[in-house]
Amino acid sequence: TDGRGIFKVYSPEMGKKIRRYHYLLEEMRLAIASSSFHLSFQPIVHVDDCAIDYFEALVRWDHPVEGSITPDEFIPIAEESNLILELGDWIMLESCRQMSAWYNAGMKKVSISVNISGVQLKHYDIYEWVMEKLAKTGLPAKALMLEITESTLIKASNKIIQSLEKLRSEGITIAIDDFGTGFSSLSTLADLPIDVIKLDKLFVAQANDNLKYNEIMHSVSELGRKLGLKVVAEGVEELAQFELVKSMGINSVQGYLVSHPESSVNVGHKVLQDNIN
Ligand code: C2E
Ligand code: CA
Ligand code: CA
Ligand code: CA
Repeated sequence: TDGRGIFKVYSPEMGKKIRRYHYLLEEMRLAIASSSFHLSFQPIVHVDDCAIDYFEALVRWDHPVEGSITPDEFIPIAEESNLILELGDWIMLESCRQMSAWYNAGMKKVSISVNISGVQLKHYDIYEWVMEKLAKTGLPAKALMLEITESTLIKASNKIIQSLEKLRSEGITIAIDDFGTGFSSLSTLADLPIDVIKLDKLFVAQANDNLKYNEIMHSVSELGRKLGLKVVAEGVEELAQFELVKSMGINSVQGYLVSHPESSVNVGHKVLQDNIN
């Protein structure tokens, strides 16, 4: 025992976690109030010609003392505390504002993709919420894509599914994110309101060592084609992985091989120089 009697199940490790949770929660409140978050953008490119398909907006937090804190750490805390509602509001508005500026500068074939949390889907009508952001920023619906994880989509109520269908009929694209980690059966894919499958990076990472992952990627690519869905492979870091994904007929790739997420300034310079419009 640790000599503290009844407290022995309460490990110091757990105490540390709880303190970190409350600390980050408080710091996040301050960071929202002082606009200390920013967005980075990562291109997803077509496999055939490497032209940019869209950019994924990824939130970044540079803390004055802690340095950069990863979304994998703070997003779950923001979700648990509902702070994601406020933060997500800013993320969506800022993403649409940035894409609208790029669109008006000539980037007409590229769209922006925004991650949507299950907490947001539960708390308001996503249809009204998204349409309001488009109206505020003047971004055309066809230039917006939403990424919702597989585990969130398979739990979604009929009401949420209907709102997503309405968004699709406006021209907004919906992607199922982290696909292959949420245990949905392949047959449910046909019933979900989606246009794009984003295969989780776990598949690309494992494909060389484990033939089963290779087989699954192949099946998903084929199924996507049959259902008229586009398939994106995440986490492509090496040329060999790019070639593998290409040989499977996957449409687009995202990963460090092509580009790390970058600031809007860097993206703007590169893309407008390359005249991709
Ligand atoms: P995600 O939606 O699956 O985003 C893709 C993540 O993969 C990003 O991590 C990106 O930087 C990383 N990535 C891109 N290429 C590669 C690669 O080649 N190799 C590897 N190993 N990783 C790669 P990031 O930005 O740290 O975000 C982590 C997660 O945090 C995201 O996963 C998403 O679930 C969440 N997140 C990030 N930004 C937002 C946001 O604005 N809103 C919400 N709700 N969640 C966000
Ligand atoms: Ca995503
Ligand atoms: Ca993902
Ligand atoms: Ca993820």
